[in-house]
Amino acid sequence: MRLVTSGIVLKTVKLSDSDILITLFSDKHGKITAVAKGARNARSKLNAASQLFVYGEYSLSMGAKWNYVNSVEVYDAYYTIREDLESLTYASYFVELTSFVLPEDTANLKLFSILKNVLECLKDQRAGGRFLKVVYELKCLDLLGYRPETTACIQCGNEEQLYFMSIEEGGVLCESCALNLKKGLKIGKKLSRLMTLILNEDTIKLCQLEINDFYVEKMDILLNNYLKHHVGVKRFKSIEFLDTLNILKE
Ligand SMILES: [Zn+2]
Repeated sequence: MRLVTSGIVLKTVKLSDSDILITLFSDKHGKITAVAKGARNARSKLNAASQLFVYGEYSLSMGAKWNYVNSVEVYDAYYTIREDLESLTYASYFVELTSFVLPEDTANLKLFSILKNVLECLKDQRAGGRFLKVVYELKCLDLLGYRPETTACIQCGNEEQLYFMSIEEGGVLCESCALNLKKGLKIGKKLSRLMTLILNEDTIKLCQLEINDFYVEKMDILLNNYLKHHVGVKRFKSIEFLDTLNILKE
């Protein structure tokens, strides 16, 4: 059976000296793995299309055992992202996270379009990689059913003074509940509103905001723990490398 689909490459594995197995995030079909025969040869037409986070229209032969890539029309290979080590690492993380959290055989058109948007924004340098990471992680959590409660205290429903967060219980706590129950991480005054904004607003519009690095860093650390607790996200190689890059910048 022949299948033509828009897709973004989430993962690549060398199969042999000449072939690559790619995992594609198809907009309408979810995750698909397919063999790109001869793609390791630099002169192969499939070579450029078999690299991480390439976005294109993939023509596939779907078989009982293996699927094969017949041809690809590359829409965007995001070359400018590949020229910058930090952007490259963030983009690699976005596809690594997607591959990890997206269930098999499940289409998720919204997540596909957000992934495409964050790659676009990274390419055009509309926002820093760390901010886009926070945006993508929050939207992933939302779309996969792990949306953190950020607008009302998970204990009493109070909508004011949401200065604490319980990662285990997946939401914010008001100051009095947190102090009475002696639980929650102190997140300060602005973070719950900022996370609500990111959860509700379009990615492209979010890139127009000027958000202090201090808050981005706080959300980044909080979300790393949140993803670990709720989704079982491990320490990806790309994340470890990002930590090294961040330390070098400090
Ligand atoms: Zn409360």
